[in-house]
Amino acid sequence: MTAAIPAEADWDRAPGLLEGAMDLELTAADCNLRYWLQAVPQGTLRGRPDGHDPALEVGPHMLRGPFFEAITQEYAFRALAEEKATRVLSYLVPIAPDTDSMEFYATQVLDECRHAMVFRNHLLSLGIPRERLARAVEEFAAPHQDTVLAPLERRSLEIMRDRRDFIGGVVMMTIILEGALAPAAELSERKWRPLDPAAAEIDKGAGIDEIRHLTVGAAIARQYLLDRPREKDRVIELIHDGMRMWEELPTHDMVHWREVKFQEGLDRHGDLVGDYEIWPGRRLVDTTPEERQDTAERWSDEMKAKRLKYMGLAEALA
Ligand code: FE
Ligand code: FE
Repeated sequence: MTAAIPAEADWDRAPGLLEGAMDLELTAADCNLRYWLQAVPQGTLRGRPDGHDPALEVGPHMLRGPFFEAITQEYAFRALAEEKATRVLSYLVPIAPDTDSMEFYATQVLDECRHAMVFRNHLLSLGIPRERLARAVEEFAAPHQDTVLAPLERRSLEIMRDRRDFIGGVVMMTIILEGALAPAAELSERKWRPLDPAAAEIDKGAGIDEIRHLTVGAAIARQYLLDRPREKDRVIELIHDGMRMWEELPTHDMVHWREVKFQEGLDRHGDLVGDYEIWPGRRLVDTTPEERQDTAERWSDEMKAKRLKYMGLAEALA
């Protein structure tokens, strides 16, 4: 007999990323190693070892021109970001204060490693030859390597590896890094859906994992601070530092470039998306780069406010 797959990890029943991250409550005890073994390899990932239905193929409109430029730059960036997350996050495993959180972070390391793999390998479907793959990832992501990825990596290593600061690492991951990137991932899934359904499935699968990372990370932070209220000021300080750092990074320009390229593709291949609605009542063909980006940024603010309140860190919003 096979065990039932929990709804939040089930391909067909899971909520969307933003909804799940804001409305669900999952703890490290809920999402320990045993949970993961049944819910993820035998649930979410079943039949999708590459992150998508193997029958889905990439259409010719994706293989050159603006859609190609937009998606290769986006996916290479995300592959590298996920790879760095894998390496950095592994430092949380040895300093996790109890078995449940140790097991949870071990599973998250594997999740991030898998995300790096599926984003990277999608470049193969987009026509990059396998022997050039590693170099292509570096090249496509190059504009944002030193300006975005390196400073985030440096700060994370400082907290998790050098200072061995468990709660600092949890907060850095769940609020600054994953919290800030989740809305961009949701936007990606929605906008690629009619154009590159394999990419949209990769996003959707990663989004299902992300619901778990965000909710459990928040639950760990919440409980940690309930047990150690004197750490709260220090954590708020860390969040402010992280937010300030995020503000100074050129991520807005990076996302804007992608949306402008996407728009060029849309102008050329609008017939392919028809009346597809990116969100209820709004056709993708009628949106602009600014509108899509503003919407993702608004989601980001809403999500941050709600999650910080849940963690008992509403003061960090001031
Ligand atoms: Fe990830
Ligand atoms: Fe994650």
